[in-house]
Amino acid sequence: MEVLTTATALSSTELMELEDRYNAHNYHPLPVVLERGQGVFVWDVEGKRYYDFLSAYSAVNQGHCHPRIIQALVDQAQKLTLTSRAFYNNLLGQYAEFLSQYFGYDRILPMNTGVEAVETAIKLCRRWSYQVKGVPDGQAKIIFVEGNFHGRTISAISASTDPGSRRGFGPYVPGLVTIPYDDIPALEKALQDPTVAGFLVEPIQGEAGVFVPADDYLPKAFDLCKQHNVLFIADEVQTGIARTGKLLCCDHFGIKPDLLILGKAISGGVLPVSVVLGSDEVLLTIKPGEHGSTFGGNPLACAVAMEALRVVEDEHLAENAEQLGKIFRARMLALQVKRPDLIALVRGKGLLNAVVINDTEDSQTAWNICLELAENGLLAKPTHGNIIRFAPPLVMTNTQLEECCEIIEGVMLGFEQ
Ligand code: PLP
Repeated sequence: MEVLTTATALSSTELMELEDRYNAHNYHPLPVVLERGQGVFVWDVEGKRYYDFLSAYSAVNQGHCHPRIIQALVDQAQKLTLTSRAFYNNLLGQYAEFLSQYFGYDRILPMNTGVEAVETAIKLCRRWSYQVKGVPDGQAKIIFVEGNFHGRTISAISASTDPGSRRGFGPYVPGLVTIPYDDIPALEKALQDPTVAGFLVEPIQGEAGVFVPADDYLPKAFDLCKQHNVLFIADEVQTGIARTGKLLCCDHFGIKPDLLILGKAISGGVLPVSVVLGSDEVLLTIKPGEHGSTFGGNPLACAVAMEALRVVEDEHLAENAEQLGKIFRARMLALQVKRPDLIALVRGKGLLNAVVINDTEDSQTAWNICLELAENGLLAKPTHGNIIRFAPPLVMTNTQLEECCEIIEGVMLGFEQ
């Protein structure tokens, strides 16, 4: 077959047209075509350099193509990539021990994408409720909160309250209850039902627009779950791995979830790697043949993820995120004082932050600001129309952050609606 195109020979415009023509239209990207990344920077096919303020939705916390992680990838790729779980491999046991100790759990169940780990947690929770808690078979309920985002599978969207995620994909999975977020009385009420098996929550709602709950919400929710023998399940796919200024976002609130869901940055954005961590009591309810994935726990993922997590520790990424986050929010709050007509709110934790634009959800304002930011060498993307999320790689330096704040300030101060 004749090869019609080579990526390097084509311009951004041609590449966007190609994607538009042959790819499903399930995303609406900003019009930049990237071909290279290093640390906090990415370059487009015309050679223009940008600061990356999305980090692939917080998957590239360790920075693009981190040399240590790429080395681990290359070394392992030359030895063994995939065995399936039909056989043991020499890394999975070491990886499971490493992760269990790193996060303080009994054991792990490895998967690939974030949403697969969410599915796994749902299955573990249901199974635990039948085998241990004594919920009658087929009646388990799991509580979710409004505005959640847990991915795109049928069960994740069944729990979603976002019409854009849900509409037109029914029928939905039963047994998933949604209550308002950051609302303890609503949780208290929902927990009266004895068939409730779990409460599944993002400690900060990332996709919804970086919603940070009241300081006492998660500790109170955790205590209530304990009182009702309900599993507290934290989806830290986006908030975990140092993003919010601590290794886990739950660490800010002094709670240790019964089940912890991680993905994205566990591999530094190099491979799809996800995991559920928990106790023997919960994880051992699933027996051989009852759950799995061909790629889950593959040796390549194990090698990459262990190195990615060592980098987080060695480079003090949580501390850096905490410190830079404070500077970033202070600068954005000062900017809000100068442009209250444009900026309604600034919120976030660590380097997961949002600037809420003073306009309706269906307005083009945030999108147009992001286009101007891109022109000025900084990539960020609106979420839910009028909210701009700012989440750079955590390897950013103070000087780089100052430069980025200047770019954002320059664009926002000069922006005309
Ligand atoms: N959970 C949360 C909190 C997320 O933010 C995401 C993705 O953005 C997911 C789950 C789904 O992860 P993935 O896209 O890897 O399936």
